[in-house]
Amino acid sequence: MATGKINVQAENIFPIIKKFLYSDHEIFLRELVSNAVDATQKLKTLHKLGEFKGELGETTIEVKVDKKAKTIQVIDKGLGMSEEEVKKYLNQVAFSGAEEFVKKYEGKSEQIIGHFGLGFYSAFMVSDHVTVETKSYQDEPAVIWECNGDPEFKIKKSKKTDRGTTITLHIADDSKEFLDDSRISGILNKYCKFLPVKIKFGTKKESIDDPKGAKDDKGNVKKIDQTVDNIINNPSPAWTKVPADLKDEDYKSFYRELYPMTFEEPLFNIHLNVDFPFNLTGILYFPKLGNNQNMQLQKNKIQLYSNQVFITDSVEGIVPEFLTLLHGVIDSPDIPLNVSRSYLQSDGNVKKISGHITKKVGDKLASMFKKDRADFEKKWDDIRLFVEYGMLTEEKFYDKAKEFYLFKDVEGKFYTIAEYTEKIKENQTNKEGKLIALYAANQEAQHAYIDAAQSRNYNVIEWDGPLTAHLIQNFEMKMENIQFTRVDADTLDKLIQKAEATKHNLTEDQEKELKEIIEGVVEKEKYSVTLENLDEKDSPMMITQSEFMRRMKEQSATGGGMMGMGNFPDMYNLVVNANHPLTSKILVEQDSEKRSKLAKQAADLARLSQGLLTGKDLTEFVKRSVELID
Ligand code: ADP
Repeated sequence: MATGKINVQAENIFPIIKKFLYSDHEIFLRELVSNAVDATQKLKTLHKLGEFKGELGETTIEVKVDKKAKTIQVIDKGLGMSEEEVKKYLNQVAFSGAEEFVKKYEGKSEQIIGHFGLGFYSAFMVSDHVTVETKSYQDEPAVIWECNGDPEFKIKKSKKTDRGTTITLHIADDSKEFLDDSRISGILNKYCKFLPVKIKFGTKKESIDDPKGAKDDKGNVKKIDQTVDNIINNPSPAWTKVPADLKDEDYKSFYRELYPMTFEEPLFNIHLNVDFPFNLTGILYFPKLGNNQNMQLQKNKIQLYSNQVFITDSVEGIVPEFLTLLHGVIDSPDIPLNVSRSYLQSDGNVKKISGHITKKVGDKLASMFKKDRADFEKKWDDIRLFVEYGMLTEEKFYDKAKEFYLFKDVEGKFYTIAEYTEKIKENQTNKEGKLIALYAANQEAQHAYIDAAQSRNYNVIEWDGPLTAHLIQNFEMKMENIQFTRVDADTLDKLIQKAEATKHNLTEDQEKELKEIIEGVVEKEKYSVTLENLDEKDSPMMITQSEFMRRMKEQSATGGGMMGMGNFPDMYNLVVNANHPLTSKILVEQDSEKRSKLAKQAADLARLSQGLLTGKDLTEFVKRSVELID
């Protein structure tokens, strides 16, 4: 028996490892199973290269929990270690055999997970005693290494005859939770679900066809229960395969595998596959966002893997903000594993990776648009928010997306930005030569205004969503000579001013009188009354809200814009059509009670078409209407 000292700089590194190496103690299992996977993959590589001539045999890794003995074991049939190797790899904290192996077999090796030479020691976060019993694939005697968490270790001969390594953790009293089967099964499911070597945890019952072919009353082959190994992982998940080998259904079923609790099918996906200048594979899914989009709910579903080991599902800061709306998997050994988030965010590789993903996503959308525009239009409502988010936050994405961003008009027709500006050029250019694009946020509520615009052959875009106000501002900044304005922001003559407004026919006195009458029937603080020279066929009165005011309020509601505007009281314009016959009728009416009744009725009609007439005011309006019919 030999004894020796673990070679570390600081004498007391163990307490440090125990407390600070990983904030999450549960990852000890991820580290040990990853090591077992590495040992197996290394052996497969040596076998492939002819350096190991023996039988590979069954290589399933096993995780065992013994509640009575208070142990957890991780058993592999990988390449094992000789005494020399145990001393070299396990006794020198931060000496990684993985790195050495990868360097030696660069380009020829199966994927190796380990990098840092610290993972094994995470075992001491949960154990007070650890043994490693191992037999190398080479003709070397088996050994047992033992350590109880201080820098002293023991090493002695072992009777182990089969190749591979068994790690036994004697679980410390403060970590007993890990002796619970369901806890272990939860951890395995979280981190090891897609590791590339089969992992067994206990057994399970499975119902299979009777191998003897016995039949039941109905003539169907009988089912019998059989105990089988409980394999907790899928060693070859879809993203590791070649896209050409996968059908649409395979992508969908992998989506279900990733999100068993989600019932919606994804819209479409992007299979990422890069090996230069960094390694990156993965599948990103576009979820159906639909119209009533709660962005927060959709976020943070992407899972980040490194060589099929789960790292995190909180990718904020790692991929660009707008991409966090997507679902799926990103796998890259070039993303550092065990480091802090702030480090990840400033890591050069991570930046390159996120730039690449942004590009891929933009390319995919552009090619879908080109290939099958009708289908792209069908999906537009579901991807619009995502595209808008990207355009607002990533310049490079904006440049791509401006080619396939679509305006949908109230008739349901789609136009690219270029097509749309061409379409409205003729009829919707104002006297200063500026294009005025009209939009409606709610077709139902703004029906009267849309109707009026359409009667002048103006086109109206249907445009609403949490980002609309921000995007409009962005578009106006980037595209010269276009201005967006909501149909109810002003009278049409003013929205698209084509010539100097002509003055109406009322005398100054009549104007003053009329204004006073109308101001007397509405809330003064809320409505500012103006007289305008409109067509006599237009409404007698209408209510508008300035584009500027409304945008400020909308933007401050979703963050940004002018602070404090969210609490600003709603202010409207009550525009009186000086040329409408009703206006003259009000003016000539001598009975003051009748006169204000008429004025109130006309003002209420305008409020009604903006959805501003409610409660008591609405009840009174209905009563008054009945009286007026009589
Ligand atoms: P890393 O895996 O990051 O290299 P570890 O501390 O987890 O660092 O392991 C150190 C080294 O010990 C590994 O690189 C490997 O050479 C060796 N090792 C650990 N576990 C096993 C195992 N189950 N079978 C064979 N070798 C192992």
